[in-house]
Amino acid sequence: MSTTKVKGIVLKYVNMNDNDRLFTIFCPELGKVSAMSKGIRSHKHKDFAALQPFCYSEFVIDTSKGLGYINSATVIETFYDIRSGVEKMSLASYVADLVANMADEIMYDDEFFSFILNTMFMIAKSKDTEQRTVLDELLRLKAVFELKCVSVAGYMPQCDICNVCGCGGDLEYFDIYEGCAYCKDCAEGGAGYDTVKANPGVIKMILFICQSDYRSVFRFNASEENIKTVGDISEKYLINKLELVSGALEYFKNIIAL
Ligand SMILES: [Zn+2]
Repeated sequence: MSTTKVKGIVLKYVNMNDNDRLFTIFCPELGKVSAMSKGIRSHKHKDFAALQPFCYSEFVIDTSKGLGYINSATVIETFYDIRSGVEKMSLASYVADLVANMADEIMYDDEFFSFILNTMFMIAKSKDTEQRTVLDELLRLKAVFELKCVSVAGYMPQCDICNVCGCGGDLEYFDIYEGCAYCKDCAEGGAGYDTVKANPGVIKMILFICQSDYRSVFRFNASEENIKTVGDISEKYLINKLELVSGALEYFKNIIAL
């Protein structure tokens, strides 16, 4: 028997047969792993808690039979509070969906993996505060995650100066095709293929997210209006560049529109 011990996050599963599930797990060491757990649909299964979606666990996987089989799984962090609201659940599903879609194509490292875990932690702990509502906080986390994913996939937006005239003044438009910014004069003069009206604060927020390291990227404040505009831009830009189709994204958008 050949077994591997790895730490990873459960992204999703599909039910197989009457009792089994096929899991998709993301591990920094191995990337995206598919592995079966026998009998796991019973709540009494010893690994049931460790194999819930979004759980960060340690797995012992038997790889001797082609398809991996999970011999055991031990919980490290459940991110339990994600389950406290359908908005949180649906955003976490979208994050997991994005990782599952991108995992085979991106260069990832331990820091990116920690960023995924940190995003799940932030989703779990999000709540209404004096600064913003829980929904605005989830939209803020979504925008950060999208911009970091599109950056790690090789499409980091360039928006420190106007892409046409090179001025570093007030940039008010974002090009979701090119991933760059324009000043008012250049945009209104016809620059850009597919531009979204923004404002200097929105462009600065995009710049901050893209240039910050994974640890400090969540440390910013923004108005409700700017969070929504950045989120609109990050989503369109990511879909454009990664050609993503995500049922989880549509579900999240439907939930928050209610
Ligand atoms: Zn310009």
